[in-house]
Order: sequence, then structure tokens, then C-alpha cells
Amino acid sequence: MARKPLVAGNWKMNFDHLEATYFVQKLAWMLRDAHFDYRKCEVALLPSFTSLRSVQVLVEADNLHLKYGAQAVSVTSQGAFTGDVSADMIAHLGCSYVIVGHSERRKYHPKDDANIVDQVRAVLAAGMQPILCVGESFEERRQGIELEFAVGQVHDVTRDLSEDETKQLIIGYEPVWAIGSGMVATPESAQDAARAIRDHIRLTFDTHVAQSVRIIYGGSVTSKNAAQLLSEPDVDGFLVGGASLDVNEFTNIARIAE
Ligand code: PEP
Repeated sequence: MARKPLVAGNWKMNFDHLEATYFVQKLAWMLRDAHFDYRKCEVALLPSFTSLRSVQVLVEADNLHLKYGAQAVSVTSQGAFTGDVSADMIAHLGCSYVIVGHSERRKYHPKDDANIVDQVRAVLAAGMQPILCVGESFEERRQGIELEFAVGQVHDVTRDLSEDETKQLIIGYEPVWAIGSGMVATPESAQDAARAIRDHIRLTFDTHVAQSVRIIYGGSVTSKNAAQLLSEPDVDGFLVGGASLDVNEFTNIARIAE
């Protein structure tokens, strides 16, 4: 089964809404200029909450084919939770995706780490797709348990999901040591992890579910290493951090995945 590649830019806590607007306009213009075929590859941006409305207005007004989403979500739907943002609020801004379980959230917001399944469920219930991030630290890799670790993180979520819910997941395999470090996983090791995760889903559900789930790689992706990573059969695209802040570089990565 052919899975459509996804190139998603995780802007983290960068760009205010004016900078976000400028970036989206420029990206759309550059992709249009390159006759980019969105039927072959999805391109998504994951800005801060403060930019989502601006991105929505631009995408809708100019009928852009870009997708967008949020970097975090609350597990509760409404009420006295100062500072939190619900899945419905995010969905009502036209978002397609929400990152769940990014290693930076797991590190700086340990409370979130405890309810990842609930976050995934909240995103799915609101009609969006979770980008579930998993991946080992340097220590787990040193011990040679990286595959067990990443698969274990996937298992912790999928064991509580139905087949239909699991099919909607996008899994971001992001080795923590590769994030923002300039040390990218080799294509073989990204493939080994993606294959192990897909095999696990196949054993838990079936081949159809396993073949439906997109598994994207994240960790120091640039236009220099993207083609080789993407040549691996189980790598279905990228979650791009640092390189997504440079519109030329992000455009190049999207064009490689097209
Ligand atoms: C990320 O944090 O999701 C990420 C992939 O970052 P970078 O590309 O900068 O390693």
C-alpha cells in the first residue's frame, strides 16, 4: 500500500504570528513556483498556538494546500484549566494534526507524559490526527535497547486504542539524541526502528492497519540527508525542527519528499 509522505515542520517556540504569516506566504509561493504536487506529498506546519488563527486565515483565504496543526493539547475539553487549550478549540481552527509526546514536552511537562493515551484520544475524538512522538535517549541506544524502547512507547498507546483509532496515528520516530544535535540517525537505523514499530502494529492488529500508519522520522533532518532517509521503505516522511525555520531549506525537504 502506498502511503503519502508527510513533511511536517515543528516550529517549537519560534515565530510570532507576523513571522508565521510571512513564512506561510513565502512557502506557498515557493512551492507553487516549483509546481509542487500536493497529491504526492503532504506539507504541514506546526506553529505556536498564537499563530494558528493567522495561519488558518491565510490558508483559507488563498485556498492553500498546506496543512497545519498544534504542538500540544489538553486532555480536558473545557473548564477551569488556566492556560490549557482543548482539542476542540484546536480542531475549530482547521487543524489537521497535533503533536503528542514530543520529547521536549515529556521532559519539561512531565505531567503530560503520564496521560499520552488521553491526549491521543482527545485529538482523535476532535477529528484530527495525532503525531505521536517516540524514540530512545542516547543512554538507551548505548545499552542497545533502542528498538525495544521505541516500540514500548508505541505499545503503551496502541494497547488502549481500537484498530480504527490506530489507523489514524502518525508515528514520529525521533531519537532524542538526534533532536537539534546535528547527529542524524543513519537511514538503516531509522528504517530498523520504523520497521520494528510497523511489525509491532501488525502483530497487535493486522497487516492492513500496519500498512496504513505513517511513520515519519525526526532528528536533525536537512535537505542533505532527507533523500537517503526517505529511500527506506518504512520511512514515510519527516518531522523537521530546526530546518523548518528556514523557508528555503524546508521547501527543499518537501520537494525531496514529493
Ligand atoms: C523535533 O524537535 O521534532 C526535531 C525533529 O528537531 P530537529 O529537526 O531540530 O532535530
